Amino acid sequence: MTVGRMQYISSRLIHGGVDGDSRTGAVNVPIYQTSTYKQLRLGQHSGYEYSRTGNPTREALERLIAELEHGRHGLAFASGMAAITAVLTLFKSGDKILISSNVYGGTYRVLDKIFSNFGINYEIVETENQQIFEGKLTPDVKAVLVESPANPLMTVTDIEKVSRAARRRGIITIVDNTFLSPYLQRPLDLGADIVLHSATKYLSGHSDLVAGLIALSDDDLAERLYFIQNATGGILQPFDSFLLIRGIKTLGVRLDRHQENALFVADWLQNNAGVARVYYPGLPDDPGYEVQRRQADGAGGMLSFELAGGFEHEAFVNSLSLITLGESLGGVESLICQPSSMTHASIPEDIRRRVGITEKLLRLSVGIEDKRDIAADLEQALERSKRAAA
Ligand SMILES: *Cc1c(COP(=O)(O)O)cnc(C)c1O
Repeated sequence: MTVGRMQYISSRLIHGGVDGDSRTGAVNVPIYQTSTYKQLRLGQHSGYEYSRTGNPTREALERLIAELEHGRHGLAFASGMAAITAVLTLFKSGDKILISSNVYGGTYRVLDKIFSNFGINYEIVETENQQIFEGKLTPDVKAVLVESPANPLMTVTDIEKVSRAARRRGIITIVDNTFLSPYLQRPLDLGADIVLHSATKYLSGHSDLVAGLIALSDDDLAERLYFIQNATGGILQPFDSFLLIRGIKTLGVRLDRHQENALFVADWLQNNAGVARVYYPGLPDDPGYEVQRRQADGAGGMLSFELAGGFEHEAFVNSLSLITLGESLGGVESLICQPSSMTHASIPEDIRRRVGITEKLLRLSVGIEDKRDIAADLEQALERSKRAAA
C-alpha cells in the first residue's frame, strides 16, 4: 500500500507502513523474533544483519509512523525517554536547548541531571509567548523542544510560528506530539524538524506497553539519528513493535471517543461549583483555543482542573472508583493524577510553583468509558470531598 492510494489518515492507520505480509498474505506483519540473520556468503546478506541495526517488525512500525506524521523517516525506541535521549545526543557540549515551560517531568529530568553533565545546557521558556521565545534565541541555542498542548497545564504553543523563528536562525524544532498523536496534529507539516512520541500513551492506547517513536523528513538528521539508534541501542523489541502497530490501527476511533468524552467532561467540570478552573484547549474560553483550532484537528483527551475552596483534593482523588489513580495517560481507561506529586515530582518545587503546577492541580486522561459514568464518578467524589472539607 502506498500513501497515494489512501487519502485519509483513518485508512493509513490501518494499512500504512507495511501492510501485512507479502510472502504469506497474513494480514498482520509477522513478529520477527530474532536477534541475528543468516548471511548468504561472506560480505553478502539479505538486508538484515543484527536486530539492533534492523528488524522487519520494527521497520514496519518505523515506516508507519513516518507516513502518519507526513515524514520520510521513522525510528522506534524502547520508551519515549529513550527516543528523547536519542534526539538530545544530536547536540554537543556548549549547545543550549530551550524547552516549553511545562514539559513532561522526565524530559526536564534527563536534561537537568544527565545532559548537563556533558555540558549541554537548557532553559525553560514560555514557548506559548512568541515575543519571550524569540528573545531567548541566542547564538548558543541549537534546538527548541516544544510540547503542545504542554503537560499538565495544557498550554498551547503556536508550532508554526516557533518553527519559523527557529529555522531562520538554524535552530532545530523538536515537537513532543504525545498528547495529540498524528491523528490530530502533524508538527512536520507546521514546520517542525523532528516529531517524537511516548507511544506508550495514545498510539499504543491500551496501557500495555512502553515505547517511543520519532519521525522526520530531513535526510541528514535522519542518518545521524539512525546512527545514534544503532550505536546507543535503545531500540524497541519485535513483540512490542507488533503490539504498537496493532494499537495504532484503532487510534482514530479511540481518539474520536476520547475527545468527545473530554469535551463533555470539561464542560461538566466547568459548570460544577466544586471546580475552580478547567484547563482544556477545546473550551472556547481557553487561552489556547484559537491556536489549537488552527494547528490541530481537535483538542484531544487530556484536561486538568483545580477544585474550588471547600473541596478537599485528597478525599476527592481517593473517592474515585471508575477513574483510576495512576501515572500515564492515553489508554482506554480514565486515569487521574496529581502532577505535583507524581508525573512532575522531578521538577523542583519553586519551578513548579512558578509555572502553576500546584497541589490543587489534577490531571485527567479521559478514557473511552461511557461519559455519563465518568461524570457520575466525578460527581460522587466531589460530594465526598466537600464533606471531608466541612
Ligand atoms: C510519558 C511521556 C514521555 C515519556 O515517555 P515514556 O514512554 O514514559 O518513556 C514523554 N513525553 C510525554 C509528553 C509523555 O507523556
